[in-house]
Amino acid sequence: MAKRDYYEVLGVSRDASEAEIKKAYRQLARKYHPDMNPGDKEAEEKFKEVQEAYEVLSNAEKRARYDQFGHAGTEAGGGPGFGGFDFGGAGADFGFGDIFDMFFGGGFGGAARRQGPQRGDDLRLDLEISFEEAAFGVEKEVGIPRQEKCPECGGSGAAPGTHPKTCPTCHGTGQIRIAQRTPLGQFQTIRTCHQCHGQGTIIETPCPRCRGRGVVQRTRKIRVKIPPGVDSGARLRMAGEGESGLRGGPPGDLYIYINVRPHKLFRRDGYDVFCEVPVSMVQAALGDSIKVPTLDGKEELHIPPGTQSGTSFRLKGKGIPRLNGVGRGDQHVRIHVETPTNLNEKQKELLREFARLYGSEPRGAREQDKGFFRKVKDAFMG
Ligand SMILES: [Zn+2]
Ligand SMILES: [Zn+2]
Repeated sequence: MAKRDYYEVLGVSRDASEAEIKKAYRQLARKYHPDMNPGDKEAEEKFKEVQEAYEVLSNAEKRARYDQFGHAGTEAGGGPGFGGFDFGGAGADFGFGDIFDMFFGGGFGGAARRQGPQRGDDLRLDLEISFEEAAFGVEKEVGIPRQEKCPECGGSGAAPGTHPKTCPTCHGTGQIRIAQRTPLGQFQTIRTCHQCHGQGTIIETPCPRCRGRGVVQRTRKIRVKIPPGVDSGARLRMAGEGESGLRGGPPGDLYIYINVRPHKLFRRDGYDVFCEVPVSMVQAALGDSIKVPTLDGKEELHIPPGTQSGTSFRLKGKGIPRLNGVGRGDQHVRIHVETPTNLNEKQKELLREFARLYGSEPRGAREQDKGFFRKVKDAFMG
């Protein structure tokens, strides 16, 4: 049977605009849809003819080939099975959802299968970084496992060189109507198509790479730039680095949640850094210059004579760089005076000698401390 001219099929002129073609197609598809003409073989043929004409004329490239070479042009490049109809090209700008809306008014809520572009899911990545990395920022390469469009089949799920076919049972709607006769009259029940499971298309030869799913799990390496000054709980958003979108939808975003590992020397509060430094009893008493660890390496800190355990010194500007890039916090160094242990006889003798020189008696008996010790005694002994 000779094929009719596609423009004639749709009843449009050869210079019809995309919108005119789409409009003509909608009208004819509605008129000849099998659901509207149950059991009508002629309408079914017409419906297929209209689909095929629209599939070609709605695609600029195919339309140009058709204009130049006629049906031969589309068959040559149309891939196998073009004699049927193929929703591939048309589906992109005229989804099955539209057909569904046309016939069922779109009033089925969740049952209505939306085929429009769908944004990809957002992804969350928990990233643990060191104290120093948080302080000064770091650039890290991370692997993001995510679903990506299958590179083998371009996301169609059909083996390369083949195309998904419009489901012959539901004609691409994903739904079928079943007429049920009851004593009260005839009812139409709408069910998800059993052949395509509501997809509207069937894949005869699944893509070997993704087994027909159209997406593959891949670990993508991306570089994450962590700014100086971040702290645990910070969240970085990387736009467009989430899951791929479906049917031309935009990708989701990637959210990176920062967790900073504790440091063995430093503790952090806001942009200030805290640490504790041990000094000997003698250093504390006589004063000394000691080396203190900071984020920038060792720093000299002067301990004045008579420094008490628990005294804090501040190293200005030695804390964490502020996230806004302006200045740094401070470092607070808390002195811990170590009482000597395991003294040998000589050392003990020297300390006794020291005690005799420091006051004539042991410290507890000295005049200036009497009040204090009496208070303590009273508190414990009543
Ligand atoms: Zn594939
Ligand atoms: Zn189906």
